[in-house]
Amino acid sequence: MIDVRQADSAHVWHPFTQAKTAAENIEIVRGEGPWLYSANGDRILDLISSWWVNIHGHAHPRIAAAIGEQAQRLEQVIFAGMTHAPAAKLAKRLTGLARFDRVFFSDNGSTSVEVAVKMAMQTWFNRGFTARTRILAFEGGYHGDTFGAMSVGRTSGFHAPFASSLFSVDFLPYPATFFGDDTVDAREAAALEKLDCALEKSSEIAALIVEPLLQGAGGMRMSRPVFIDAVVRRAQDAGVLVIFDEVMTGFGRTGSLFAADRLTRKPDFLCLSKGITGGFLPLGATLCREETFAAFLADDFSAAFAHGHSYTANPLACAAANASLDLFAEEGTLDRLPALESVHRDALTRLVGDWGVAAEPRVVGSVAAFRIPSAERGYASAIGLTLRSVCLKSGLLVRPLGDVVYLMPPLSISVADLEWGWDRLSHSVREALRVL
Ligand SMILES: *Cc1c(COP(=O)(O)O)cnc(C)c1O
Repeated sequence: MIDVRQADSAHVWHPFTQAKTAAENIEIVRGEGPWLYSANGDRILDLISSWWVNIHGHAHPRIAAAIGEQAQRLEQVIFAGMTHAPAAKLAKRLTGLARFDRVFFSDNGSTSVEVAVKMAMQTWFNRGFTARTRILAFEGGYHGDTFGAMSVGRTSGFHAPFASSLFSVDFLPYPATFFGDDTVDAREAAALEKLDCALEKSSEIAALIVEPLLQGAGGMRMSRPVFIDAVVRRAQDAGVLVIFDEVMTGFGRTGSLFAADRLTRKPDFLCLSKGITGGFLPLGATLCREETFAAFLADDFSAAFAHGHSYTANPLACAAANASLDLFAEEGTLDRLPALESVHRDALTRLVGDWGVAAEPRVVGSVAAFRIPSAERGYASAIGLTLRSVCLKSGLLVRPLGDVVYLMPPLSISVADLEWGWDRLSHSVREALRVL
């Protein structure tokens, strides 16, 4: 049998990891519900949905069976000139649920963003507005790690080595808010004023991209629906196409199937990935409107969208996504969210009030976040790594963004497991502060 630890440490390069100082990677052999089981026999509560992808729990038999059945029939086929039932069915369901018209499939979140940005730019190009090339984005936004996604997410702080090769983007302030924030009205008004300024040059702007309601990797920063609505209204009134990057917020995270469901204005593009397959297989989807699709129709190839990925609309991934959507209905997944949200609120109230170890508490749907007030600010803050290792010892998988701690459990987690997780986390935060 292979020595996993030896082979891993000798040959694998792990993502978003400083290998020189990182703790040894933990070998996971099994998952069930919100629990992961290590080769050492430890049970770990997955409070971050394995990087925000898991929805219905690990190794859910319903999704596993759907993938198995599909694998025995058709594992993969070229998606240009061919189609298949899992993709057609998924496209019909997604456009129905999100009230869009068309789906362009790719294979991860970054590519779903690349597709939306490129489609927006080419829409204007095809219509003869060749000056409409600029993109508006928000400070602190994160949209993935490919070059286009890095360009629109440059201020997330992760892409410095590539700064000189990224295309130029106009960034707007993001009025992140939390419970008890009394400056949010003023900061929203200031951000909208900046937007109005930027929109004076709307004849040069192709699109605006935003993570609606919740910026993820930028620090779990939440914004009010009224703000996002105002942004969309102003941008669309100026003719600018609006892209919602719901790679993380999609599939129930913010309390509704999509964050867009909580808003009155609808975007022109919706980027989906992560939870789309319930967390089983990589799949990206970019939803758009029929007007966009129509802008690419012509008698020759020149206006076509010359973009595609080898595994576009992989049948196994589409089968997993269809099974995941079935589970939303069968298990009443969204109906469970208010109970999780109230566990989050109660726990945060204790952490802030009784224990004094949390600041800027915030909750949206299944996601809770807070800042550790006494810690150094930012992603590189030592508290994040310390807390991660203290939590692991007490059976919790968390991955703080520096001084920002967040919980984003699978939506299927029970109230009892979530309460247990918060209890352990609260003690871990105090221990981590003592260790530092
Ligand atoms: C994770 C994420 C991405 C990138 O998705 P990958 O599948 O990791 O490429 C893009 N946008 C948002 C909002 C994300 O959270």
